[in-house]
Amino acid sequence: MMPYSNFSEFAFVGRSNVGKSSILNAITKTKNLAKTSKTPGRTQLINLFEISKLINIVDLPGYGYAKVPLIIKEKLSYLIESYLISRSNLTKIFLLIDCKVGIKNSDLDMIDYIKISEKEFSIILTKSDKCSINIKNQQIKNINSLLKVFEKNSLNIHLTSSKNHEGITDIQKEIFNLKKTNEI
Ligand code: GDP
Repeated sequence: MMPYSNFSEFAFVGRSNVGKSSILNAITKTKNLAKTSKTPGRTQLINLFEISKLINIVDLPGYGYAKVPLIIKEKLSYLIESYLISRSNLTKIFLLIDCKVGIKNSDLDMIDYIKISEKEFSIILTKSDKCSINIKNQQIKNINSLLKVFEKNSLNIHLTSSKNHEGITDIQKEIFNLKKTNEI
């Protein structure tokens, strides 16, 4: 399904329209690496981008879009689940949550897959420019209490905006640092 690779791989996953393409373009400083789409639910394949022959960035299909037929939703879910669980070079998963929308049931399914995968993960709260400080704090509180189940507790929450670039450098640093740690 996916080409074999032994580069450290960083996967980005989230509900459709969460702002994933915008974040990917911002962290890779490329305008059109991941195409931002006006039609939610359109990206239905796993996209893999090789950066400087060092790391892979993986753009997983957006899930949770109401208008997608059930059979496609199930296929997407299976595709994401098998990728997360079986990809051996997968170093870290970034789960994106819209700060205005918060965690939905489809995100909880994703969190289950992440838990099974036993991979490291971070949460990216997106579109922070659209949320008040109160809402942001509330979302961080919700996420922390929902994710208490993760024993490792190396949980990291990034507040980001592709509009004003808040938090983008921190994600770049996180990817770079992890890459260094994984080098032999
Ligand atoms: P994707 O479907 O998850 O890849 O989301 P996109 O990156 O295509 O963004 C979905 C919509 O949200 C688009 O209309 C973007 O312009 C908007 N958007 C994305 N990131 C931000 C952000 O940081 N702030 C604001 N205000 N809007 C954003």
